[in-house]
Amino acid sequence: ADTALHQAQEAGGNQTVFFDPHMGQWAAERFALEQDLRHGIEQGELRLYLQPQVDAQGRTVSAEALVRWQHPQRGLLSPALFIPLAEESGLIEPLGRWMLEQVCGWLGRLQAQGRRLPLSVNISPRQFQQSDFGERLQELLQRSQAQAGDLMLEFTESVVLHDVERVIERMAALARLGLRFSIDDFGTGYSSLSYLKNLPIHELKIDRSFVQDAPHSPSDAALVAAMLAVASLMKLQVVAEGVETEEQSLLFRHHPGALMQGYLFGRPEPAEELIRRWLAQTVAPDAPDAPDAA
Ligand code: C2E
Ligand code: MG
Ligand code: MG
Ligand code: MG
Repeated sequence: ADTALHQAQEAGGNQTVFFDPHMGQWAAERFALEQDLRHGIEQGELRLYLQPQVDAQGRTVSAEALVRWQHPQRGLLSPALFIPLAEESGLIEPLGRWMLEQVCGWLGRLQAQGRRLPLSVNISPRQFQQSDFGERLQELLQRSQAQAGDLMLEFTESVVLHDVERVIERMAALARLGLRFSIDDFGTGYSSLSYLKNLPIHELKIDRSFVQDAPHSPSDAALVAAMLAVASLMKLQVVAEGVETEEQSLLFRHHPGALMQGYLFGRPEPAEELIRRWLAQTVAPDAPDAPDAA
């Protein structure tokens, strides 16, 4: 069953594949999975995972929220298996709302304890295109007592391929609320760089493919250097994705302010586990034994 799904995805995601002998089976499989996902979202089968983003000293300074689906028969599913389906079927809207609710819930609870850990959430273009996206988000921030400035919305470059004017307007309105924006998988899209000057962007995430090849490939290393330069000249925060080795981390450790995210520092894990450890390892700024307390 999984094989049919994989084959279909390899065949090009949402492209139409003509006269594929697996097509009938695949369509049925897809439909079943879509029904399962709809039901799963309602039944509370989604899980919020977090992956740390660390500074040059390896300290966790923020984290990215990543969805998982605890399927009753198939086990814990990775987003690559169901996000494309969720996008095509419209289920990305309830899924995306659930993620934002969870993340804002954590931000609000941390805030109530006087603690702040900025969290990033992936937003799919379709989710962002909903006319009431901003309104709902503002309402959610208020309800959960979360600081807008602690929430980073991650988009891929594809979000600016269509209707740029509207995207700019929407982002600007959300930026006025204090929300921050990150360009995910930076360098892999085919859009022009001009959006960097028109959009209220705060962060670039250098795609894993460049990070992983840079130690052995001069052209990847050059592109990483160029992306770091763009980020620092434009005063954007930068995150290196997919850092797995010490060698890769050396590309970023000496770059002021660069953050790193990858298996070298921590895999995605259930939110409560990462947050419990972060709370234990860090000290509240107003606690008597805080290092920088008067
Ligand atoms: P992404 O936003 O680029 O997230 C980073 C992906 O890289 C994550 O995969 C993460 O587990 C993986 N990763 C992190 N460090 C390493 C590393 O050192 N090596 C390798 N090989 N991989 C690493 P994950 O969790 O499977 O998510 C895949 C994609 O699914 C995400 O890519 C994102 O585009 C999408 N996604 C995940 N959660 C959501 C969500 O809530 N909403 C939406 N719209 N998309 C989501
Ligand atoms: Mg991301
Ligand atoms: Mg990414
Ligand atoms: Mg990526």
